[in-house]
Amino acid sequence: MSARWSIALHGGAGPIAGRDYAREEAHLADTLKIASDLLARGAAALDTAQWAVRQLEDAGLYLAGRGAQANLDGAFELDAAIMDGRTRKAGAVAALQGIESPIDAARVVMDRTPNVLLVGDGARRLMQRAGLACVSDPARYYTPAPERTAQAGAPLMGTVGAVICDVYGHLAAATSTAGITGKTPGRAGDTPVIGAGTWADDRVAVSCTGLGEYFIRANAAATISARMRWAGETLVQAADAVLADIAALGGEGGLIAVAADGTIAMPNNSGGMKRACATSEGRFDVATF
Ligand code: ASP
Repeated sequence: MSARWSIALHGGAGPIAGRDYAREEAHLADTLKIASDLLARGAAALDTAQWAVRQLEDAGLYLAGRGAQANLDGAFELDAAIMDGRTRKAGAVAALQGIESPIDAARVVMDRTPNVLLVGDGARRLMQRAGLACVSDPARYYTPAPERTAQAGAPLMGTVGAVICDVYGHLAAATSTAGITGKTPGRAGDTPVIGAGTWADDRVAVSCTGLGEYFIRANAAATISARMRWAGETLVQAADAVLADIAALGGEGGLIAVAADGTIAMPNNSGGMKRACATSEGRFDVATF
């Protein structure tokens, strides 16, 4: 065990230019502070990443969890994934309805099934049996995240995520989302696709946000690890290269990543990304634009 730890959080790429994100930034800072204290006291990366994403889901400030927007049918279908870098165990849910916390559901898939990704009604029934809190009245449970009520032509984004390197040198990533606004029923984005929107191994942990189809086509999150491993790139070089690839395909977004040496990268090409990071060396940053 060393005394070193690093954490980064995001509250989604593609902020609306000129909008004030003080509430979201204050919430990210509060979550970051508590998570940092947990890590300094020896909490595990995996548990802390899940905990942090759960706070972001429950806040109703982001297009994830309580702040989710409905799809074109008016249904709330949510995606989430969690991955443990040490074991490369992973769990994910897609198009999940009726369960309060998609990230807790992803952890159930990881811990209690032989599967990695469960979707739709089968996932919902398993989570009910596992005792997760259910949403009985979606119209009351889901609160309008500020982004959802904004007037904007382009699809809005608002995923939440956490990446952590703990004092044991272990990495974990967690991501949760309602997807992009105006999405087609049944659509799953990059978030629950292990290797695309979420990835952790013993080299790097990554959580992405942006137009998910492009992140899937770029296999974004796992490619950062591959570039570091096979091309000898630094975390920052690899993250920038993956975002450049996404831009070349016509996509946009951002990501947070932490390497096993504690280095953090938080690039975006989407005019900003709600983000926050802290390290045992005393770094504590929160920003949107
Ligand atoms: N990447 C998410 C998706 O495509 C959306 C987002 O990050 O806001 O589902």
